[in-house]
Amino acid sequence: MTFASIIDHDRQKEILRQALKNGRLAHAYLFEGPEGVGKKLMALALARALFCDSGNGCGECAACRKVDHLNHPDLHILSAEGTQIKIDQVREIQRDLSLRPMEGTIKVCLIDGAEGLNPAAANALLKTLEEPRPGTLIILLSAKPETLLDTIRSRCQRLKFNRLSRVRLAEILEHRLGLEEAEAQVMAALADGSFKKAFGNNQDFYLKERKERLKALVALSTGSIFPLFELAQELADDKEMLPETLDIFQSFYRDLLLLKYGRPQSELVNLDLRETLHRESATEQPPALLKKLAAIEQARFHLQRNVNRQLAMETMLMAITAP
Ligand SMILES: [Zn+2]
Repeated sequence: MTFASIIDHDRQKEILRQALKNGRLAHAYLFEGPEGVGKKLMALALARALFCDSGNGCGECAACRKVDHLNHPDLHILSAEGTQIKIDQVREIQRDLSLRPMEGTIKVCLIDGAEGLNPAAANALLKTLEEPRPGTLIILLSAKPETLLDTIRSRCQRLKFNRLSRVRLAEILEHRLGLEEAEAQVMAALADGSFKKAFGNNQDFYLKERKERLKALVALSTGSIFPLFELAQELADDKEMLPETLDIFQSFYRDLLLLKYGRPQSELVNLDLRETLHRESATEQPPALLKKLAAIEQARFHLQRNVNRQLAMETMLMAITAP
């Protein structure tokens, strides 16, 4: 991953490039911004530029390859074990950072999901940030920078990463993945500005499975109890993709509402299902659509509180199909 191959975030790239060129890198950075927008890729690109044998993050040399494989001995990555980053993990990093670099001239430590630092770990890290050792660089990555200690934030140079706009992400998807325009727009809308989602494993799910699930949803009618239970079971069984499935159902009813209110097509998510959308919107009224959206939200609420999945899905589908 070189700076050049990172999509977007030009301002952040330029700041880091200039700092590298002028030897004015801060001893600690905080890369902040939503999940999946490329903070970690940027941090790895910076590490590569620092370790690279030819000094530019060439991608060919042994050092660059080790960064790509996350096995460079001078690169340390810390992330939550379970839900927290614990003090023992920070202490281990402190020990590592106190040693000389093994191969290069600097040691780099990434703290991924820094909001996971528990209070003891955060206080221990603060000591390191207050008394930085020469030849060390600490990069904190966080989607929730407001939850970090003020004293940690103020010791870091902060770089903000924004979500990509839907239009820009769609352009990139069309260009990079060779998707059709409508497909690229669907993906961009569902990925909500996140590269991780847009380029991740969910592509098939968003482009193909989404249509199947919506078809099954639309096919349910009042009183069709057996198909309803069947669909509820199917959704509940696919635990991993359940949040995404709910996103998709929500996007569908939101699309119908937008059509009802005469909003422009460009605001729709399911642009590749225009025919279905128009057909369904002809028979739906805004109050009923709002009830369906509320039912989905309620299901999400229940799932987060570990209510039985099958039951949550049955309740949701019954509310959706209620006359
Ligand atoms: Zn290199």
